[in-house]
Amino acid sequence: PYVIAEACVDVMDRSCVDECPVDCIYEGATKLYVNPRECIDCGACEPVCPVEAITADRHVPDGEQAHIADNTAFFTLP
Ligand code: SF4
Repeated sequence: PYVIAEACVDVMDRSCVDECPVDCIYEGATKLYVNPRECIDCGACEPVCPVEAITADRHVPDGEQAHIADNTAFFTLP
């Protein structure tokens, strides 16, 4: 799945939300999150992000790997 990382924090432009064909991008307190169980890996969200916060999980930059786990945790019910 795709992952929204550090650059989204406190930006939340939301262009990706309009672009996602399966509506799997959700709003958190400070950033947006992609639901990994709903994302179809289409890549439509990546180019529309003005701060380039979105990449496929295998391309999340070094130093931002924590966002992959954080993203999964966001959709895991306690
Ligand atoms: Fe939505 Fe496609 Fe982006 Fe996944 S890759 S979050 S399905 S727009």
